This record gives sequence, C-alpha cells and structure tokens, in this order.
Amino acid sequence: MIDPFGRRVSYLRVSVTDRCDLRCVYCMAEDMTFLPKAEVLTLEELDRLCGAFIGLGVDRIRLTGGEPLVRKNVMSLFRSLGARLGEGGLRELTTTTNGTQLVRMAGDLHAAGVRRINVSMDTLDPATFAAITRWGKLEPTLDGIFAAKAAGLAVKINAVAMKGVNEDEFDRMIGWCGEHGFDLCLIETMPLGEISADRNDQYLPLSSVRTRLQRNWTLDETDYSTGGPARYFTVRETGQRIGFITPLTHNFCESCNRVRLTCTGTLYMCLGQDDSADLRRHLRDPDLDEAGLQQAILDAIARKPKGHDFVIDRTRRQPAVARHMSVTGG
Ligand code: SAM
Ligand code: SF4
Repeated sequence: MIDPFGRRVSYLRVSVTDRCDLRCVYCMAEDMTFLPKAEVLTLEELDRLCGAFIGLGVDRIRLTGGEPLVRKNVMSLFRSLGARLGEGGLRELTTTTNGTQLVRMAGDLHAAGVRRINVSMDTLDPATFAAITRWGKLEPTLDGIFAAKAAGLAVKINAVAMKGVNEDEFDRMIGWCGEHGFDLCLIETMPLGEISADRNDQYLPLSSVRTRLQRNWTLDETDYSTGGPARYFTVRETGQRIGFITPLTHNFCESCNRVRLTCTGTLYMCLGQDDSADLRRHLRDPDLDEAGLQQAILDAIARKPKGHDFVIDRTRRQPAVARHMSVTGG
C-alpha cells in the first residue's frame, strides 16, 4: 500500500479496547464514558480485518488501546495473529501495555509469538505513579516488567515527559533501564482529547530534556529506527538505547509508515487528523467479499494526509483532535 505521498504503509496499530484500568492524566479525563460493547468489534472481526491488512502488505501489527490486556479473552487474538507470523505474511506482532496484567500474561504473549513489548511507566516513584495514573500502584507494573523480561520478551519503557511531574527523574530512569537491559523512550505530550487539565501546564519540550541529560550521559547518535517517529541514541555508559518522540518540536510525518484501527473498526490514517474510514460497515456487509473489504482499505489509504499539525499554545483552547489517545491507540 503506497499513499499519495509515496510512503509505504506496512504497519498497523490496533486499539482493541478504549477501556483501561488506569486514568493517566495526559491520556484520559477522570470520568470517562466508554463505548457501548455492541459497537465494539468482536475479536474474530478484528482478526479478519487484520488479515485483510496483512493481505495488502502490512507486516507489523501492534495491539494497543486503552489497555489491550484488560480486554476479555484478548489472548485469543494474539494467538490467531501470532499464527500469521512468518509464512502468513506477518513479520512482527507487538503490544503496548501499562504492564498491570503482565505477571499473568507475559508467558502467553511469548508463546503466541510476541518478542518485544512497550510498557508505559512514567516514573519509578510510587507517589508520582499514583498521581499520574490517578489511582494506579507502581508495583504491579514493575512486577509485570520483570515477568516480561523473565518470559524472554524485550522490553522498552515508554515515559511521557511532564513538566514539574517527572522531569527530574529521567537520569534515574536511564540508570535503572541500563541496569536491567531495557530501552527507554521519552514522549512529548500530544494534544489529543479533553483531559480536564491544561496541556500547557504538562508540556515539556524534549529538546531541553536531552540537553540536560547530556550533562550526565553520553548520547551517541545511531541510525537505529523502528520505522516510527522516535529518534534514538545509545547511552554510552549503559549500552541501552534512548529514544525521543517529539511530535511538537520536530515533525516526524515524512517517514510515516502506519495507520490506526480502533476497536469499532474505524481506520484513522493519521493520529493527528480527524479523517477516518468506517471499515465495520464493510466488514459486516454480507454482500461484500474480501476483495471489497480490501478495496475499502485501499480507498482509505489513498486519503492518508501529509501530516499532523499539533500545536500546544495558550491561544488554542481545544485539543488538536477531539478523540483521546486511548481511542485511536497510541
Ligand atoms: N494502555 C497502554 C499503555 O499505557 O501503554 C496502551 C495505550 S496508551 C494510549 C499508549 C501510549 O500512549 C502510552 O505510552 C501513553 O503514555 C501514551 N499517551 C497517551 N496519551 C498521550 C498523550 N496525550 N500524549 C503523548 N502520549 C500519550
Ligand atoms: Fe490507560 Fe495507557 Fe491511557 Fe494510561 S496511557 S490511561 S494506561 S490507556
């Protein structure tokens, strides 16, 4: 699948649920209204849709959410997609999780064919963790991370950088990740969805964070890339990588290789734009065969926009897009 700007679309992110057991302040409002279950695709429907994308050349799939691992029976989807790895056309199956369910599920993820995962953990301090997630406890996530490591999964820690909240912790986190063999990725807050807080108060440009980190760590440039928006460096002192995702200080759209599917079968061609395609309608149309479904996907890819236009400034009161990250899938 080649979009109008010549970019090959080979990576699909699937938000398997908009629900979550945490309420991170940058991601959700405290009081969220979730989708009625009837609107959500079944796991079999999600598998069929993913199959259509694989048939069109998608070779990497990431299951995300919401919290993907709280969806009932989600392991059956991991297993059916895992069966498509290799000759089935899929090169990689991964997930992004808050880690709370990993003690229970890490072994099954590995058995399904998952080899690396991203775990979101913005702080190593229990009180800060509780404040960021509104009610979460750090321990289940930490235990989950170590369960994943023990199960043979490579772990990358994702941390959203927040002004005055975790900005003094990154040195400690780099050391901790180095000690345990995890890569780390710092993310700038993106203006997605109403969150009952002012994003101007949260936003911390990573350009200044990097300058500060370089006082204590040697960050060697690498050309390592996951095809995504992160710019990676190797921390010479630990040998682990650190990535910076900077949608606001650096536009990463020119190399975008991905589209995002929600749990209702809505395809978003860009995280930062509102245009979408309703694939559920096609999926549930008894008169439409696999070729018709694939044509609907190709028609959507033909509308993939050039890029987002995220801005966080005091004059702009509305988020860039109304939907939350948990809907589109981060
Ligand atoms: N629940 C899972 C988790 O937290 O990893 C997966 C879904 S979560 C929406 C995916 C990633 O998006 C997480 O790393 C989270 O920190 C990040 N995220 C959520 N809202 C964000 C925002 N407004 N700006 C930047 N990153 C955000
Ligand atoms: Fe849940 Fe992940 Fe959003 Fe936090 S970032 S509220 S864990 S979906």
